[in-house]
Amino acid sequence: MLLENRLAFITGGGRGIGRAIALAFAAEGASIVVAARTRAEIDKVASEVVNQFGVESLAVECDVANAESVLSAFSDLKEKFGRGPDIVVNNAGIAETALFVNTDEALWECHLNINLGGTFRCTHAGLPEMIERGWGRIINIASIAGKTGAPYVSAYAASKHGVLGLTRSLALEVAAQGITVNAICPGYVETEMTSRGIENIVEKTGKSADEALKMLERMSPQNRLVTPEEVAALAVLLASEDGRGINGQAINVDGGTVLF
Ligand code: NAD
Repeated sequence: MLLENRLAFITGGGRGIGRAIALAFAAEGASIVVAARTRAEIDKVASEVVNQFGVESLAVECDVANAESVLSAFSDLKEKFGRGPDIVVNNAGIAETALFVNTDEALWECHLNINLGGTFRCTHAGLPEMIERGWGRIINIASIAGKTGAPYVSAYAASKHGVLGLTRSLALEVAAQGITVNAICPGYVETEMTSRGIENIVEKTGKSADEALKMLERMSPQNRLVTPEEVAALAVLLASEDGRGINGQAINVDGGTVLF
């Protein structure tokens, strides 16, 4: 198993991509800390990994937008496991659409604070012990919107571009200390986030849900959405010992939509 004796802290782990990563890591033997705001969702995933794979798990309520909440989640996990995580997956995120002229302070602030600030806070909380131990993995779930622009997503794209800047800089800072820092950049993935995007397109354009879905599918040369499990498979490689040479990268899982 690729992740035996590893402890992974996964934000936004209650559903979607985060849940798929929790299951894929547990299948490789990792103990799992599921951190998000919705108690019912995190409890469910924490039980799933125990029941399916017999690993240890903990569900901790955590709002990554709030520094105290992140520190309290880390203190809870240290109490249970007696140490900090080997792997931090910064997956929690939000995506709202708006014309730039309608992007107010609140919309701007929450994207920066959750998507980029959350990545900063959880990495900051987990890194010192990784440095002490001489081994660690930071995996940031960014987006192809971290590499390109698109109309209506200036706040989201700015936050994800920021995640790539953090990833690349920190990767170089800790490269000689047994730690890798990488980002995964998915295209449209079959999750609630994309379902909400489809509802939004329906509401704003009058297209049917099926037409809206087909429009998103056509953005990929493979003419399909990515599955959460495909994103999780790459996260397993990045988290594993086999992935130790991959550092500072922003790897697309998008069927070839973006070629850089
Ligand atoms: P999702 O909406 O299904 O899940 C998002 C998760 O983040 C949920 O568990 C939610 O509770 C959690 N979350 C949101 N704000 C939080 C906060 N302040 N504190 C703690 N947890 C919080 O979406 P998903 O598609 O699984 O998205 C996961 C990540 O993947 C996000 O960062 C998203 O930007 C990124 N991504 C998604 C897609 C896509 O098409 N779905 C594409 C590219 C990148």
